[in-house]
Amino acid sequence: MWILAAAALLIVLCYSVVPSFALRYLQTAKRKKAGREKVLYLTFDDGPGGKDTEDLLDLLKEYGIKASFFTVAAFAKQYPELIVRMKEEGHLIGIHSVHHNNALFRGNKFTYSDMAESMFTLKKLGCDVAYYRPPWGHLNLFTIGWIKRLNLHLLFWDVMARDWSDKETPDTICSKLMHRVFPGAVICLHDGRGAAGAPARTVEALKMTIPMLMEKGYRFKRVDEDE
Ligand SMILES: [Zn+2]
Repeated sequence: MWILAAAALLIVLCYSVVPSFALRYLQTAKRKKAGREKVLYLTFDDGPGGKDTEDLLDLLKEYGIKASFFTVAAFAKQYPELIVRMKEEGHLIGIHSVHHNNALFRGNKFTYSDMAESMFTLKKLGCDVAYYRPPWGHLNLFTIGWIKRLNLHLLFWDVMARDWSDKETPDTICSKLMHRVFPGAVICLHDGRGAAGAPARTVEALKMTIPMLMEKGYRFKRVDEDE
């Protein structure tokens, strides 16, 4: 019995857990090695999130910052006007699944249809989709194949601040970001989902963090700007 359990565990580790964590680790190691310029990449997952996304777009506009949004297709359908606004204001729009399902234990059919449907939804809203970030950073071996075949770039993150949690405040999110950034870092925050009031706390945190980072000499770019 334990041999079967060990074999199942090994299969799951090789199929999804190890590729997910190894690829994320390698991306961060590469960026840490290459990062000399004081550039940061603001990325936002799990939206669009209605009023919170509007407030975030207002804030980014105020500072002239172009960011990258990894949108959930079901929310994009709910708030198409926010996708149009992101596009008009020069932000990058990538995909982050249809319903934010985890790919760790899913097969080929789910993996393909989740990515293809997300791309289709965003394309109908006028977006050329070139970037993919898997929910929770979890992918499987089929994901890697479909990323290549669908001509997508896989992008994880280097810095998070648990901004989805109701245990965090704008101050703690700001403090975590200030301590964790490094030149060339990809910052992952959220403009949708999360605990009650989460995206609004993220916006409040950024109102403090953006000017502090600028004072330290950091500039902000879209994730595709150096390619
Ligand atoms: Zn997510």
